[in-house]
Amino acid sequence: MIPFYKLERYEGNEDLFELVLMSIVSSYVGEPMHVHAEGLRGTGKTTIMRAAKGILPQIERIKGCIYNCDPNNPHCPQHRDLPREELEKIGREMIPMPFLEISHSAKVGTVAGSIDLTKLTDADNPEARLLPGLIPQAHRGIIFIDEINRLADTSPEITDIMLDVMGNKPGHIQIEEAGLPVVDIPVSVSVWAASNPDEEPGALEEIRRQLSDRFDVVCFMGRPDSVDVLSQILKENSYSFKLQRAKQNANLEVDDLGNDKYRLDIIKWARMYEQTELPDFLRNYIARLYIKHNLESIRAIEAMQQGAVLHSIIRGRDKVLINDVTHMIPLVLKHRVDGDTLVKMINEVDVKGARDGILSFKSKKNTKKKEDDIDSNYFQTGKPLRDMKRGELVNTEKTLTPNEG
Ligand SMILES: [Zn+2]
Repeated sequence: MIPFYKLERYEGNEDLFELVLMSIVSSYVGEPMHVHAEGLRGTGKTTIMRAAKGILPQIERIKGCIYNCDPNNPHCPQHRDLPREELEKIGREMIPMPFLEISHSAKVGTVAGSIDLTKLTDADNPEARLLPGLIPQAHRGIIFIDEINRLADTSPEITDIMLDVMGNKPGHIQIEEAGLPVVDIPVSVSVWAASNPDEEPGALEEIRRQLSDRFDVVCFMGRPDSVDVLSQILKENSYSFKLQRAKQNANLEVDDLGNDKYRLDIIKWARMYEQTELPDFLRNYIARLYIKHNLESIRAIEAMQQGAVLHSIIRGRDKVLINDVTHMIPLVLKHRVDGDTLVKMINEVDVKGARDGILSFKSKKNTKKKEDDIDSNYFQTGKPLRDMKRGELVNTEKTLTPNEG
């Protein structure tokens, strides 16, 4: 597998690279972000998502806990009621952030949990215990589902589990086994999915609308349309190139270094994310989009807020701009509104420019608050005093007289 940092980037797949990073940053701080990549075969959506496993940072858990209990906030049936001293005795360990895959033919027991047979058949001390499935084991990490449309079509039970897992942030999962009490535990996992809406059984939003809406963002993968990119893809898929790469893979450490840069960035971005707020005027802007375009899903505008902040951060800014919000519009709404509404919204922000777009629908509503007006005046030319750093507020002798000295 080609390491993440070496994958070919072009206009049609750029968004997915960003969304994958944004989702990892968000998962790292404990707020899942669910990403669905749609596109034709050969657009590389699953390649990008699977390669992202190589850039995941490490997380700390209670030593040996298969549910990945956070030592500061244990949640599993085994650890949640233990006193602090007991937990300290067990100890802690670092593990790579989990990345587990559910196939479209998976069974409920594999996904949610089942009876731990090794414990049950232990000759000295037989005991009925639960073995958590893939989802509880992916707590604080990523669950990947390829061909999610097929899963939704053929497995209503697993679809219902996904609805619970993705229902809130964090979500929850129930593990049921005959003869054992039902266990309900919180799970914080980001679900990544891929599908080809042109293949059977069709687009997810048409099969299970509710499940489709659980995805914060849908990234439609464009086809590569430049000759350069296509020749590069051809080259990478050629037999001789694959042979060469097999030899290079003996040199895995070098590959790790490229991915390590991402790992460090992700940890840095996660710290920034914890401290970055969406400015009030952008929050109002999002709220107005909701009302003006009759959006149905509150999840949609929550995702717009979450996505805008994350987008600004992976671009290296700690100030969220209007462009971060407008960038999220198609990603957040593609699967939630009809095509006409989406095109109308995008044209509005594109053609007139974001600033005009906001002002034009502000002017229609005369109930606007004065405070909003002040903020919109600062839109591109300035910013509110409260958002400024000391250095920008206090002029030094040098900034006042730049030509001297
Ligand atoms: Zn635990």
